[in-house]
Amino acid sequence: MSHEPEVPRKRYELEDTGFDEVPRKYRKYYRRWGGESDELAGNEVLCPVCKVVVRSNREVREGDRIYCMACMTRLRVVRVDGRLEGHVEY
Ligand SMILES: [Zn+2]
Repeated sequence: MSHEPEVPRKRYELEDTGFDEVPRKYRKYYRRWGGESDELAGNEVLCPVCKVVVRSNREVREGDRIYCMACMTRLRVVRVDGRLEGHVEY
């Protein structure tokens, strides 16, 4: 068994994009999704429930748990066709 050292996660600088469905101090962690042509960055996961992009200040990886405050859903990050997606966790 090999134990490769884990590559450090990239950090991201977040900016408020004007998403106003959550309290002001959390706005930078969300943005509106631009539809299928909207390419998500390494720190972004689409909430499948409300179609809002949840953002983190560090790179998101498979198995992470994130919380969508816009619709109060807990998501687990999974890899589907090479892309990261948020799946609802019950
Ligand atoms: Zn949501």
